[in-house]
Amino acid sequence: MTTLLISHPACLAHDMGEGHPERPDRLRAIDRAFESETFQTLARDSAPRAEISAIARVHPLDYIEAIRAATPKQGLTAIDQDTSMSPGTFEAALRSAGGATFAVDEVMTRKVRSAFVATRPPGHHAELATPMGFCFFNNAAVAARHGRAIYGAERVAIVDFDVHHGNGTQHIFWDDPKVMYASTHEMPHYPGTGSVSERGEHDQIVNAPLRAGDAGDTFREAMEVAILPRVDDFAPDLIIISAGFDAHRRDPLGNLNLVEADFAWATRKLMEIAERRCAGRIVSVLEGGYHLDSLARSVAAHVTALMEG
Ligand SMILES: [Zn+2]
Repeated sequence: MTTLLISHPACLAHDMGEGHPERPDRLRAIDRAFESETFQTLARDSAPRAEISAIARVHPLDYIEAIRAATPKQGLTAIDQDTSMSPGTFEAALRSAGGATFAVDEVMTRKVRSAFVATRPPGHHAELATPMGFCFFNNAAVAARHGRAIYGAERVAIVDFDVHHGNGTQHIFWDDPKVMYASTHEMPHYPGTGSVSERGEHDQIVNAPLRAGDAGDTFREAMEVAILPRVDDFAPDLIIISAGFDAHRRDPLGNLNLVEADFAWATRKLMEIAERRCAGRIVSVLEGGYHLDSLARSVAAHVTALMEG
């Protein structure tokens, strides 16, 4: 059993303009990292377009249509202060969500043990009917609902180590007892949510905020104390990682001080739980990460750990 890398060139055609940190070069940097010999045994496939019905398990149809309709013929359409659409955005968003559902297909049917989805736009800030923070469709949420609907996954755990809180994922699953959302993130920081007291209707939301300046030791302690035991107790049938790498010490959008080894460590810890609870099944989707070199190295460390499973 192996690890699958899923991507698509259409994800390069989503462009929010000169100087925007969530830029196509992020995927180019990741692609270059995967050219290394380390990744020779990595299986690779293209992200299909998501079925609209798959996205509609999370987002209302009229919201999906509004995003499609907002697509500009040329130039940019502003969605919020830091999120906009280019002519290629809708297609990229379909491939991003489609990569996530395809990853679930391959993992749930045991074709591969784990999968990493290297696509953009990211997803964890997208709420039920609100695009924000560089996100349009919540890819991790679409993947979780896909696993539940198509493969009968009873419980799905989403673990998010992006430096920003996944307000969208929390919003979507706030009252869903079958999906756990667990997050480490810098706080106070964008988007403002993610305090320990936000626990969901069924105590299945787990927030472990970190402070600006915190490094790997604090991150690991938060994972060990607050998050990993809860994920283990939840006994998920599938673990989804919202894999953002902007908690890296060199990232310009966050103030945490993680390094590549911390991401690899968290990956291995989640793999141990996946091994115990769900035959090792992990789907990891790319969220943030804006220092190109650190992003590429962190993704490489994360996927190398997945491949060792
Ligand atoms: Zn982020």
